[in-house]
Amino acid sequence: MKTDCSPKAPMPDPRPPVPEPRVEEPAGVVCRHCGCRDLPVYYTRRRNGRIIRVRECRNCGRRMMTREEEV
Ligand SMILES: [Zn+2]
Repeated sequence: MKTDCSPKAPMPDPRPPVPEPRVEEPAGVVCRHCGCRDLPVYYTRRRNGRIIRVRECRNCGRRMMTREEEV
């Protein structure tokens, strides 16, 4: 009888996951289309106490919106 000798799953990393740092500016903005992190702000608009930023990817040129609470 053949035994399935598939490799065992690697040991889980004992270190706890690092929590996301809370920053006002969403520093972790990554282009959803190409993964590029170079997203300069195209324009900023304030609306109902929120800041809406439109960023344009420098790599693929796509735009995406981010919303931030105004404090
Ligand atoms: Zn992109």
